[in-house]
Amino acid sequence: MNKKVCRKCRKIIVETEINAKGKEESLKVCPVCGSTVFTTFWKGTALVIDPDKSEIGKAMDVSVPGKYALRLSR
Ligand SMILES: [Zn+2]
Repeated sequence: MNKKVCRKCRKIIVETEINAKGKEESLKVCPVCGSTVFTTFWKGTALVIDPDKSEIGKAMDVSVPGKYALRLSR
């Protein structure tokens, strides 16, 4: 499964989703911040479960739980 990272909020997103009709659909808009700029080059991942209590979540300014990229390469 291909993944990409939102350049704005660093959320890791699965590039394609199966839509209601059972077809593969590529995500063009970040579900977290609405940005349309993505990268497929990143280093490290951080799983933020509770952004309010997580140090990583606070440091990365994350407000939505999920997997985030630690560093973007390009
Ligand atoms: Zn985003």
